[in-house]
Amino acid sequence: MKRLPLYLLLLSLSVLSKTQEPLNPEVRVWLTRWQTVPLYITSECAWRAAGAGMLHNVSAGETATVERDGTRLTLRFGNKSLLAKEWMLEGEAPLTLSNAQRSSGRSYRGSLVLRVYKGRLQVLNVLPLEEYLLGVVPLEMPPSFPAEALKAQAIAARSWTVRNRHKHEADGADVCDGTHCQVYGDATVERESATLAVQNTAGIIMVKDDAPVDGVYTADCGGQPAPDGSTLPTVDRDESGRDYCVANPAHYWSLRFSFREVWQALGEDSPPEVPKGKVNVQIVQTDESGRVVTFRILCGDRTREVEGTKLRSRLSLPSTLLRVRLEQGDVIVFEGSGSGHGKGLCQWGAAGRARAGQKAEDILRVYYPGARLAPLSEAMWQWRRNRKLNSVR
Ligand SMILES: [Zn+2]
Ligand SMILES: [Zn+2]
Repeated sequence: MKRLPLYLLLLSLSVLSKTQEPLNPEVRVWLTRWQTVPLYITSECAWRAAGAGMLHNVSAGETATVERDGTRLTLRFGNKSLLAKEWMLEGEAPLTLSNAQRSSGRSYRGSLVLRVYKGRLQVLNVLPLEEYLLGVVPLEMPPSFPAEALKAQAIAARSWTVRNRHKHEADGADVCDGTHCQVYGDATVERESATLAVQNTAGIIMVKDDAPVDGVYTADCGGQPAPDGSTLPTVDRDESGRDYCVANPAHYWSLRFSFREVWQALGEDSPPEVPKGKVNVQIVQTDESGRVVTFRILCGDRTREVEGTKLRSRLSLPSTLLRVRLEQGDVIVFEGSGSGHGKGLCQWGAAGRARAGQKAEDILRVYYPGARLAPLSEAMWQWRRNRKLNSVR
């Protein structure tokens, strides 16, 4: 065989690796914790601030103070002040934000956009999808969980982002950093196990019916995941009948309330006298997974119906996969399993399955029936925009 010259070999290798490089588009994360001024910004390396046609170079260790001036923002360095409607900050190292001078603060990868939004400071962190996930996975799943569970979590979180990146369109962002979207921290929350899970699944998402899968996840499905549209995922149990998520110390739970507390949780005025022996909480309707859809609450001759999810949030019940009984005439006992809405990936279940030897793709197949793994493509990233265009036609 004729040998290829080394430079040709290297060239072909680099072309090959380029074509295999996963798509890594930028995500705009609204850092909701930074809405007040003054805000202090610094970095271990040199950085740049661009705004109103100005470019200001900032040296390593120098601190800029951000203040609001009506609808504009002032960036102050020592006795020099610059004013712009929007600032773009970018450096060689993470930029550190804090609300108090000399406090430790948080350090973000990527660049920052600062502006005034609805009368308050808005800070956006613009960074590649894969770097964003490094700050999500360790906060959304304990980094001590097994590697295959963390990989399943990384793929779910990536799919969720691709599917839901319109959530903050109206705010000029893709997603926020809170529980409303996915919890995202700064570079200091990163953990090696979670980072490896992101890197080892780089660019991989779940796809179903030519759309990115809404990769929602839940702490503990209680043994039976909630239905995903019309599909009910299989019960989360091994051959011996043990729940895969049973290792969660809070898998089974029991909570007691006085009837008065339940009644008040409905937003009703407390009845002057709870008619003992004439109160009750009943389950009227459940979904295919057994989760309560509607409760009926009886107080003497008064009856109220309330959604399961509503009562769950009002009483801070871990889940709606539960039974309810009356004790001593007016004590209501809720006994259930699991924690969270129960949809999508069961995190404790994923850990149990990984310990039993299942791979990330096997785990995902259980919790997202019909989904397949695929590299993120431009079409998937633009999925929602394309869908909108199609619906206009
Ligand atoms: Zn959000
Ligand atoms: Zn489970």
